[in-house]
Amino acid sequence: MAIKKIAVLTSGGDAPGMNAAVRAVVRTALGRGVDVYAVYRGYNGLINGDVKEMNLRSVSDIIHRGGTALYSARSPEFCTEEGMNKAVDTCKKLGIDGLVVIGGDGSFRGAQDLCRRGVPCIGIPGTIDNDISCCEHTIGYDTALNTCMEMIDRLRDTSESHDRCSVVEVMGRHAGYLALNVGIAVGATTILVPEVPYDFERDIIDRMKKTAATGKKHFIIIVAEGIGRVEELAKRIEEETGVESRATILGHVQRGGNPTVYDRVLASRMGNYAVELLLSGKSKRVVTIQQDRITDFDIEEALKMKKSFDSELYRVAHEISI
Ligand code: ADP
Repeated sequence: MAIKKIAVLTSGGDAPGMNAAVRAVVRTALGRGVDVYAVYRGYNGLINGDVKEMNLRSVSDIIHRGGTALYSARSPEFCTEEGMNKAVDTCKKLGIDGLVVIGGDGSFRGAQDLCRRGVPCIGIPGTIDNDISCCEHTIGYDTALNTCMEMIDRLRDTSESHDRCSVVEVMGRHAGYLALNVGIAVGATTILVPEVPYDFERDIIDRMKKTAATGKKHFIIIVAEGIGRVEELAKRIEEETGVESRATILGHVQRGGNPTVYDRVLASRMGNYAVELLLSGKSKRVVTIQQDRITDFDIEEALKMKKSFDSELYRVAHEISI
């Protein structure tokens, strides 16, 4: 069946670079004579028929912008039989032959359900968590790393001036990739991630005392969101070490900002590839990058894979932060 009309949506947590991916999808499709609809606010847009036909200029001036011009949403209704049927009906009514879903693993589960109901879908990983197993870099991860690093560099300036300890929470409920890489980049004394159990005395107090003995007076402790409780940690650190300690939760600032070069290029490549997959009759695939090569996996298989934690990087981080 020739693909004549496709749609694109962004879903779940937004990530910088999603716009660049949308732009690539729209331009690739139009360039190949395929009509494209934008679907607004994730799966809600499919349920409510909130769509707009795109032209080449519809995606002008968005490549450099964070967030998503198509808006995003979490859609509990889509997870119901009724909501799903409405979404499928919208696709049928509009004559959509294929859908590109830019989002995280939750969004891909939704895409899988649509595929089962006869709507061919391709997933593009857009999430700052970098938690898609078969994909070495997800769209938005590099930008979030750089944003965190920039913010923590600022904290370092002030904690250095006051001989303080900064206990900083970065995003990552289940995945510590962001925490680990940022921790290395900012020279953290210790990094707490959900994947590795920690011992307060051994991993925080002893490390601080050891480095203090060699003359260090200010400290950065990076804590992944999944560990949390940074206020409590800062209080206990101050009590045990006498070093004035402050907790900072970076929060949603980590999601925003203009995408980095890496994320813009990655998103452009992935968007282009996703349309190629649809045009070659593929469905239920997720676009990934491995060793700088864009490739694809079956969504179901991709969702089953577990991403292994980089314990070698974790070792390096702690070996050099003395
Ligand atoms: P992310 O895509 O960033 O992981 P979510 O997990 O919130 O974000 O998922 C985004 C949306 O995808 C949800 O609001 C829901 O509409 C849909 N979704 C998530 N999980 C499922 C599922 N198991 N089946 C069908 N749809 C799902």
